Amino acid sequence: MGGVGVLLLGTGVTAFGIAPLAPDAADLPVRQVVEALAAPTQQDIHSLLATQPISPMVLFRSDTTRRDDTAQSLLQRLGVSDTQAQAFLRNDPVARQLLAAGRAGRTVHAEASDQQELLRLTARWLSSDERGFTRLVVEKSEQGELTSRLEQGTLTATSRLASGVIRSSLFAATDAAGIPDPVAIQLAEMFSSDIDFRRDLRQGDRFSVVYESLEADGESLRTGRVLSAEFANDGREREAVWFEEPGHKGGYYGFDGQSSRRYYLASPLEFSRVSSGYGMRFHPITGGRKAHMGVDYAAPTGTPVRTIGDGVVEFAGVQRGYGNVIYIRHRNNQTTVYAHLSRIGVTKGQRVGQGDFIGAVGTTGASTGPHLHLEFRDNGVHVDPLAIARQSESVPVAPAFRARFDAVAKLQRMQLDAAASIQQASAE
Ligand SMILES: [Zn+2]
Repeated sequence: MGGVGVLLLGTGVTAFGIAPLAPDAADLPVRQVVEALAAPTQQDIHSLLATQPISPMVLFRSDTTRRDDTAQSLLQRLGVSDTQAQAFLRNDPVARQLLAAGRAGRTVHAEASDQQELLRLTARWLSSDERGFTRLVVEKSEQGELTSRLEQGTLTATSRLASGVIRSSLFAATDAAGIPDPVAIQLAEMFSSDIDFRRDLRQGDRFSVVYESLEADGESLRTGRVLSAEFANDGREREAVWFEEPGHKGGYYGFDGQSSRRYYLASPLEFSRVSSGYGMRFHPITGGRKAHMGVDYAAPTGTPVRTIGDGVVEFAGVQRGYGNVIYIRHRNNQTTVYAHLSRIGVTKGQRVGQGDFIGAVGTTGASTGPHLHLEFRDNGVHVDPLAIARQSESVPVAPAFRARFDAVAKLQRMQLDAAASIQQASAE
């Protein structure tokens, strides 16, 4: 009612030809209004964005390229709906390298406008020699044109720590710990003379590992070498640390500085997801007749076979019973024989180094299924290859490099302990 009075008064003043005075706000009655407001709709926000000079919204998203990706399917997963960008990724000679055949598994980062237009896209991949990386950048210019460029960068090596507990298999444990397969395989290979990872693992076995990750702008593009590891198998601890004497080939050492290099590898087949599922079996010895003189490794046809030691190829060809077979002569008149191969990859007289691939598993000759038959002969006498593999060179670090080794070992010891404590913390 008071408000109305003021208004009337104002009108009356006008009648006298005097400029109206604005009513003093302090004199106006105060009324509280409580009212439910409808939430702004998407439409409201869009019209607000269209009229308000605020900085535009940018959406960031990352995804990984897939084998059957098209420009459209990749952009869709990145939250981009932009036909210009699709056409650009298909036709631009630089940008199309992103989805070139066989380029699955690349991480792609995209920035899009709130209109789902592509503003910027980046991806990084290993160069062909795996030492550096290529960075692809696709960007929208001020004029709204998409541009592309390739840049070359060098990888940065960082250490990663991880640990795990065996519940069923090595790969189940490394998967659970987020450890890449190449690291799991190195781990199995490092300790293969002491632990048969196909048969000797026990539930509750523990491991910790420090490995190199090679990164591009902070994104891991591949793993490098295992720098150190410890493995507790059936209550026994094994440890190894990588060390390179300047000017020499590196190798694994115990923390005491004794090399764990062996004359012979424990297995002619590299440990892998496939082979880990195959049990190693020994032929039954047939009484009265000639005993089976080797070790059989069941594995799918085509599995690579490697020489377990340095040597020279003495024979590579077909022999009755053995099928495709390779003989390699090593030091001290010792010979290894690899039989039933599907493929031979070396020739007589060729020099081979420990771990070199020489052929592939098959079932040629007198064989009932795909497997590798391995024999070890010491001066012509058959010997158990597994017992031979346990013989070590055990060369200590040269005195000149001992201080350097101790520094490396100390750092690795700390990192392994840190990795193990992460495992304990997450278990509790
Ligand atoms: Zn056999």
